[in-house]
Amino acid sequence: MSATKDLFIYNTLSKKKEKFEPITEGFVGMYVCGPTVYSDVHLGNVRTFTSFDIMYRYLLHLGYKVRYVRNITDVGHLLDDGEDRISRGARLDQLEPMEVVQKYTNSFHQMMDIFNTKKPSIEPRATQHIIEQIEMVQQIIDNGYAYERNGSVYFDTQKFHQEKKCYGKLSGRVIDELLSETRGDLKNQGEKNCPSDFAIWMKAAPDHLMKWNSPWSVGFPGWHLECSVMSTKYLGETFDIHGGGNDLKFPHHENEVAQNVGACNCEPANYWLHTNMLLMNGKKMSKSDGNTITPDELFTGDSPHVSKGYSPMVVKFFMLQSHYSSTLDLTDEALQASEKGYKRLMEAIKTLSTLSAKSEGNALDKEINDAVDMLDKHMCDDFNTPRAIASLFDIVSKINSLKEGHLDIRQVSAETMERLQKSFPSFIHDVLGLEDDILSGGNNDKLDGVMDLVLQLRQDARANKNWDIADKIRDGLAKHQIVVKDGKEGTTWTLN
Ligand code: AMP
Ligand code: ZN
Repeated sequence: MSATKDLFIYNTLSKKKEKFEPITEGFVGMYVCGPTVYSDVHLGNVRTFTSFDIMYRYLLHLGYKVRYVRNITDVGHLLDDGEDRISRGARLDQLEPMEVVQKYTNSFHQMMDIFNTKKPSIEPRATQHIIEQIEMVQQIIDNGYAYERNGSVYFDTQKFHQEKKCYGKLSGRVIDELLSETRGDLKNQGEKNCPSDFAIWMKAAPDHLMKWNSPWSVGFPGWHLECSVMSTKYLGETFDIHGGGNDLKFPHHENEVAQNVGACNCEPANYWLHTNMLLMNGKKMSKSDGNTITPDELFTGDSPHVSKGYSPMVVKFFMLQSHYSSTLDLTDEALQASEKGYKRLMEAIKTLSTLSAKSEGNALDKEINDAVDMLDKHMCDDFNTPRAIASLFDIVSKINSLKEGHLDIRQVSAETMERLQKSFPSFIHDVLGLEDDILSGGNNDKLDGVMDLVLQLRQDARANKNWDIADKIRDGLAKHQIVVKDGKEGTTWTLN
C-alpha cells in the first residue's frame, strides 16, 4: 500500500519545510544515530529516540514500508582527552569492553521497551563493520580526499571543500572558521594539514584496548565513519531520512556527509531531521553539574527535582506535548499537568467504548469527522505532536459531552461513531505509542481483566439486590483509587 497523505518535514539540509518524496514510492529508508553504550541512557537520549519512534510509527501509519536502521556505537566515540568511551566504561566497571557494550545495550533496550518504542528493523554495531569501514577509508583515499600520517588517516576538508563546495552545508559552519578540531582526535592536531581535518582511521597506542589490523596501522575507525558505512550498507548510497539529536549536527553529521560524498560522490540522505535538547528547570540536562535525573528516579520520585514518581507513559506524554524541534524543559509542575491530562485521555478511551450511536440523524458528523481529520493534518505538518494532542483533547471534550448528554448522541451516525471509536484509541496507541500504565505498572491488560471480573461480580450482586456486597466492592475499590460509576450506559471505572 502506498501513502496517500502529503507529509511535510523540516529538512535541516535545506532549512525549509519540504514535501516528503521518498526515493521509491511506498518505501522509506531511515537511519538514526543510536546511543554510545558506555553508560545508562539518560532522559535526553530517551527524548530523541522517542521522537524518532513517533516518526517511524507515523510513516508506518501512512502506509509506508519503512526500513528503520538505528546503530549502536561501540567503538571510536572518544572523550575530549582521547580515551574511547567504551574503554573508559570498561576501566571504571572493570569489565571487558564488549561486556560494557552488552550491559548498556541491554539496559538501553529495556528503557526503550519501558517507553513503548518500536524496535528498529536493523540495529547494526560499529565493531561488526570494521572491514566495511576500512574499505570506505580506502575509497576516500583513492578519491583523493584523505591522507595518511604516521598510521592515522585524515579527511582532507580543504581539498574536499575546494572541489565539492559542500563542507558546512548541513551544519552551517564555515570551513575557514573551523580553527579548533572536532571531539576525538585533539591529541593528533599536529599530524593534520588543517585543524578542520578529522581522523577517519586512528593508529592505536600500545595500551589501547579495541584495535584492528588495517593497511595503515593497528588502530580503530574514527567515530563518524561507522554511520556513513552502516547507512550505505543497509539503505544504499542515498536514502530518504537521516536523524539524530541537534548536538550531532556538527561535527558528526557534517563529517558523515563529507565521508559519503568523498567515497561515493553522492550525498547520503535527502532529508536530515534533528531533535532538540531536553532541559531541566531551564538548564541543559547534564551529568557534570548535577542537573540530571535518571528515568528510574523519575519513575520512583526518588530525586530532589520531583515531588513524586511519574509513570513512564506520563513522562512520554509530557515529551510529546512539545514539538521535537523545540527545547523541552522538564519541571515537576509540567509533569503534574501532564499526568492530569494523560488521565483524562485514558478515561476518554474507556468512555468512548461505552458509547453507542442511536443514528437518528447526523448533525454532529461533520464536527466529529473534522476533529478526527485534524490528527493527521497536524502529524503531516512535520510530525506536530503537540497540536495533534490538542486535537485529541477537542475530541475528549466531545466524547465527554456525548456521554453527559450536552451533545446529542442521536445526531451521530453509526458510521461516524465507528470511525471515532476506531481512530481515537488507535491514534493514541499506535501512532503515539501510549498505553494506560498509570497505577498498573505498565501492565494494564491484567488490570482491565481483573476489573471486568470484579464489576461483573458486583453486577450479579446488584441483580440479586445484594446491595451490601455491591457497595462493599465499590468502597473497597475506592480505597485503591479506583472509582466506579454507574450510568445509563452501564458501569465504568477510572483510576483516580
Ligand atoms: P549519545 O549516546 O551521546 O551519542 O546520544 C544518543 C542520542 O541522544 C543522540 O542523538 C544525541 O543527540 C541525543 N541526546 C543527547 N543528549 C540529549 C539531550 N539532553 N536531549 C535530547 N537528546 C539528546
Ligand atoms: Zn551517527
